[in-house]
Amino acid sequence: MNLKVIAFDADDTLFINETYFLETEEKFCALMSDYLSHQGLSQELFKVEIANLKLYGYGIKGYILSMIEAAMNISNNTIPIEIIEKIIQYGKELLEKPIVLLDGVQETLQALHGKYKLVVATKGDLLDQRRKLHNSGLGHYFHHIEVMSDKQEIDYTDLIKRLEIQPSEFFMIGNSLKSDVLPVLAIGGYAVHIPFHTTWAHEKIDHTVEHDNFRTLEKLTDVLPFIQL
Ligand SMILES: [Mg+2]
Repeated sequence: MNLKVIAFDADDTLFINETYFLETEEKFCALMSDYLSHQGLSQELFKVEIANLKLYGYGIKGYILSMIEAAMNISNNTIPIEIIEKIIQYGKELLEKPIVLLDGVQETLQALHGKYKLVVATKGDLLDQRRKLHNSGLGHYFHHIEVMSDKQEIDYTDLIKRLEIQPSEFFMIGNSLKSDVLPVLAIGGYAVHIPFHTTWAHEKIDHTVEHDNFRTLEKLTDVLPFIQL
Protein backbone atom coordinates (compact mmCIF):
# COMPACT_ATOMS: atom_id res chain seq x y z
CA MET A 1 0.00 0.00 0.00
CA ASN A 2 1.12 3.50 -0.81
CA LEU A 3 -1.29 5.46 1.34
CA LYS A 4 -1.47 9.21 1.73
CA VAL A 5 -4.81 9.81 3.42
CA ILE A 6 -6.49 7.81 6.18
CA ALA A 7 -10.12 8.78 6.63
CA PHE A 8 -12.23 8.00 9.65
CA ASP A 9 -15.97 7.83 9.89
CA ALA A 10 -17.07 9.66 13.07
CA ASP A 11 -20.31 8.20 14.48
CA ASP A 12 -19.81 4.77 16.06
CA THR A 13 -16.24 4.69 14.73
CA LEU A 14 -14.61 7.43 16.83
CA PHE A 15 -17.40 7.93 19.37
CA ILE A 16 -20.77 6.54 20.46
CA ASN A 17 -23.77 7.66 18.43
CA GLU A 18 -26.34 4.99 17.55
CA THR A 19 -26.80 4.13 21.23
CA TYR A 20 -28.11 7.66 21.84
CA PHE A 21 -30.52 7.47 18.91
CA LEU A 22 -31.84 4.15 20.24
CA GLU A 23 -32.36 5.70 23.69
CA THR A 24 -34.30 8.56 22.11
CA GLU A 25 -36.40 6.15 20.08
CA GLU A 26 -37.23 4.29 23.30
CA LYS A 27 -38.37 7.57 24.87
CA PHE A 28 -40.44 8.39 21.78
CA CYS A 29 -42.13 4.98 21.93
CA ALA A 30 -42.88 5.38 25.66
CA LEU A 31 -44.31 8.85 25.02
CA MET A 32 -46.57 7.53 22.23
CA SER A 33 -47.50 4.21 23.83
CA ASP A 34 -51.22 5.07 23.98
CA TYR A 35 -51.38 5.08 20.17
CA LEU A 36 -49.53 2.01 18.91
CA SER A 37 -47.34 -0.91 19.94
CA HIS A 38 -43.61 -0.31 20.37
CA GLN A 39 -42.93 -2.12 17.12
CA GLY A 40 -45.65 -0.17 15.27
CA LEU A 41 -44.24 3.13 16.51
CA SER A 42 -40.68 2.19 15.56
CA GLN A 43 -41.77 1.16 12.10
CA GLU A 44 -43.74 4.35 11.47
CA LEU A 45 -40.85 6.52 12.71
CA PHE A 46 -38.34 4.66 10.51
CA LYS A 47 -40.62 5.01 7.47
CA VAL A 48 -40.95 8.79 7.95
CA GLU A 49 -37.20 9.14 8.62
CA ILE A 50 -36.22 7.36 5.43
CA ALA A 51 -38.78 9.28 3.35
CA ASN A 52 -37.34 12.55 4.72
CA LEU A 53 -33.65 11.73 4.15
CA LYS A 54 -33.63 13.23 0.67
CA LEU A 55 -35.08 16.49 2.03
CA TYR A 56 -33.35 16.83 5.40
CA GLY A 57 -30.22 14.72 5.01
CA TYR A 58 -28.69 12.81 7.92
CA GLY A 59 -28.55 14.12 11.46
CA ILE A 60 -30.46 15.02 14.59
CA LYS A 61 -32.44 18.02 13.31
CA GLY A 62 -34.03 15.93 10.58
CA TYR A 63 -34.68 13.19 13.13
CA ILE A 64 -36.58 15.64 15.39
CA LEU A 65 -38.78 16.74 12.49
CA SER A 66 -39.38 13.09 11.58
CA MET A 67 -40.44 12.24 15.15
CA ILE A 68 -42.94 15.13 15.07
CA GLU A 69 -44.27 14.08 11.66
CA ALA A 70 -44.56 10.44 12.76
CA ALA A 71 -46.45 11.52 15.90
CA MET A 72 -48.87 13.53 13.73
CA ASN A 73 -49.40 10.62 11.33
CA ILE A 74 -49.89 8.09 14.11
CA SER A 75 -52.40 10.29 15.97
CA ASN A 76 -54.30 11.38 12.86
CA ASN A 77 -53.16 14.93 13.55
CA THR A 78 -54.63 14.96 17.06
CA ILE A 79 -51.31 14.87 18.92
CA PRO A 80 -51.35 17.19 21.97
CA ILE A 81 -48.89 20.06 21.87
CA GLU A 82 -47.35 18.76 25.12
CA ILE A 83 -46.14 15.68 23.25
CA ILE A 84 -44.61 17.81 20.49
CA GLU A 85 -42.89 19.82 23.23
CA LYS A 86 -41.47 16.60 24.71
CA ILE A 87 -40.22 15.42 21.31
CA ILE A 88 -38.40 18.71 20.77
CA GLN A 89 -36.90 18.39 24.23
CA TYR A 90 -35.70 14.83 23.49
CA GLY A 91 -34.10 16.11 20.30
CA LYS A 92 -32.30 18.92 22.11
CA GLU A 93 -31.06 16.45 24.70
CA LEU A 94 -29.73 14.30 21.86
CA LEU A 95 -27.80 17.34 20.60
CA GLU A 96 -26.14 17.71 23.99
CA LYS A 97 -25.10 14.13 24.68
CA PRO A 98 -21.58 13.68 25.99
CA ILE A 99 -18.88 12.53 23.59
CA VAL A 100 -17.71 9.06 24.57
CA LEU A 101 -14.67 7.89 22.61
CA LEU A 102 -14.52 4.25 21.54
CA ASP A 103 -11.65 1.96 22.54
CA GLY A 104 -8.27 2.68 21.01
CA VAL A 105 -9.23 5.90 19.23
CA GLN A 106 -6.67 8.14 20.90
CA GLU A 107 -3.92 5.53 20.58
CA THR A 108 -4.60 4.89 16.90
CA LEU A 109 -4.74 8.56 15.95
CA GLN A 110 -1.57 9.25 17.92
CA ALA A 111 0.28 6.45 16.09
CA LEU A 112 -0.85 7.57 12.62
CA HIS A 113 -0.57 11.32 13.16
CA GLY A 114 2.33 12.86 11.25
CA LYS A 115 2.77 9.75 9.07
CA TYR A 116 -0.39 10.18 7.02
CA LYS A 117 -2.89 12.94 6.37
CA LEU A 118 -5.80 12.12 8.68
CA VAL A 119 -9.31 13.13 7.69
CA VAL A 120 -12.81 12.74 9.18
CA ALA A 121 -15.43 11.76 6.60
CA THR A 122 -18.89 11.81 8.15
CA LYS A 123 -22.54 12.35 7.37
CA GLY A 124 -24.84 14.41 9.62
CA ASP A 125 -25.49 18.04 10.52
CA LEU A 126 -22.50 20.30 9.97
CA LEU A 127 -22.90 22.15 13.29
CA ASP A 128 -23.47 18.98 15.31
CA GLN A 129 -20.52 17.10 13.80
CA ARG A 130 -18.25 20.12 14.41
CA ARG A 131 -19.49 20.24 18.03
CA LYS A 132 -18.76 16.54 18.54
CA LEU A 133 -15.29 16.71 17.01
CA HIS A 134 -14.50 19.83 19.05
CA ASN A 135 -15.74 18.29 22.32
CA SER A 136 -13.98 14.99 21.58
CA GLY A 137 -10.59 16.68 21.92
CA LEU A 138 -9.52 14.87 18.72
CA GLY A 139 -9.68 17.88 16.40
CA HIS A 140 -5.92 18.51 16.38
CA TYR A 141 -5.20 15.09 14.84
CA PHE A 142 -7.15 15.89 11.69
CA HIS A 143 -6.03 17.79 8.65
CA HIS A 144 -9.58 18.11 7.42
CA ILE A 145 -13.17 17.39 8.48
CA GLU A 146 -15.53 16.54 5.65
CA VAL A 147 -19.25 16.55 6.51
CA MET A 148 -20.76 14.77 3.52
CA SER A 149 -24.43 14.95 2.52
CA ASP A 150 -24.14 11.29 1.55
CA LYS A 151 -21.49 8.58 1.23
CA GLN A 152 -22.00 7.27 -2.27
CA GLU A 153 -19.19 6.62 -4.78
CA ILE A 154 -19.59 10.12 -6.24
CA ASP A 155 -19.17 11.70 -2.80
CA TYR A 156 -15.90 9.82 -2.20
CA THR A 157 -14.70 10.61 -5.72
CA ASP A 158 -15.27 14.32 -5.02
CA LEU A 159 -13.45 14.07 -1.68
CA ILE A 160 -10.44 12.31 -3.23
CA LYS A 161 -10.23 14.93 -5.98
CA ARG A 162 -10.24 17.70 -3.42
CA LEU A 163 -7.51 15.93 -1.46
CA GLU A 164 -5.50 15.72 -4.73
CA ILE A 165 -4.73 12.03 -4.35
CA GLN A 166 -5.44 8.81 -6.24
CA PRO A 167 -8.12 6.38 -4.98
CA SER A 168 -5.35 3.83 -4.27
CA GLU A 169 -3.81 6.33 -1.81
CA PHE A 170 -7.06 6.55 0.19
CA PHE A 171 -7.90 4.35 3.17
CA MET A 172 -11.29 4.56 4.90
CA ILE A 173 -12.17 3.22 8.34
CA GLY A 174 -15.76 2.96 9.54
CA ASN A 175 -18.55 0.96 11.13
CA SER A 176 -20.88 0.87 8.11
CA LEU A 177 -20.24 -1.58 5.26
CA LYS A 178 -22.79 0.28 3.18
CA SER A 179 -21.44 3.81 3.65
CA ASP A 180 -17.80 3.45 4.68
CA VAL A 181 -16.68 0.35 2.79
CA LEU A 182 -18.56 -0.56 -0.41
CA PRO A 183 -18.36 2.83 -2.20
CA VAL A 184 -14.65 3.20 -1.30
CA LEU A 185 -13.79 -0.27 -2.66
CA ALA A 186 -15.83 0.47 -5.79
CA ILE A 187 -13.67 3.47 -6.67
CA GLY A 188 -10.37 1.68 -5.97
CA GLY A 189 -9.59 2.66 -2.38
CA TYR A 190 -8.89 0.62 0.73
CA ALA A 191 -11.40 0.10 3.53
CA VAL A 192 -11.60 -1.39 6.98
CA HIS A 193 -14.84 -2.26 8.74
CA ILE A 194 -14.92 -2.07 12.52
CA PRO A 195 -18.40 -3.18 13.58
CA PHE A 196 -20.16 -1.32 16.38
CA HIS A 197 -22.46 -3.48 18.51
CA THR A 198 -25.56 -1.93 16.98
CA THR A 199 -26.23 -0.68 13.44
CA TRP A 200 -29.04 1.58 12.19
CA ALA A 201 -31.37 -0.44 9.93
CA HIS A 202 -30.72 1.96 7.06
CA GLU A 203 -26.98 1.13 7.12
CA LYS A 204 -27.41 -2.64 7.07
CA ILE A 205 -26.62 -4.78 4.05
CA ASP A 206 -27.60 -8.42 3.60
CA HIS A 207 -24.39 -9.83 2.14
CA THR A 208 -20.77 -10.25 3.18
CA VAL A 209 -17.94 -8.34 1.58
CA GLU A 210 -14.81 -9.94 0.14
CA HIS A 211 -12.15 -7.85 -1.51
CA ASP A 212 -8.35 -7.70 -1.57
CA ASN A 213 -8.44 -4.08 -0.36
CA PHE A 214 -10.73 -4.85 2.56
CA ARG A 215 -10.62 -6.27 6.09
CA THR A 216 -13.04 -6.50 8.98
CA LEU A 217 -11.20 -5.82 12.23
CA GLU A 218 -12.38 -6.04 15.79
CA LYS A 219 -11.03 -2.79 17.18
CA LEU A 220 -9.51 0.40 15.90
CA THR A 221 -5.95 -0.33 17.07
CA ASP A 222 -5.99 -3.44 14.81
CA VAL A 223 -5.63 -1.12 11.81
CA LEU A 224 -2.07 -0.25 12.86
CA PRO A 225 -0.44 -3.57 11.92
CA PHE A 226 -2.68 -3.76 8.84
CA ILE A 227 -1.46 -0.43 7.55
CA GLN A 228 2.13 -1.59 8.24
CA LEU A 229 3.66 1.51 9.66
MG1 LIG B 1 -20.69 5.51 11.52
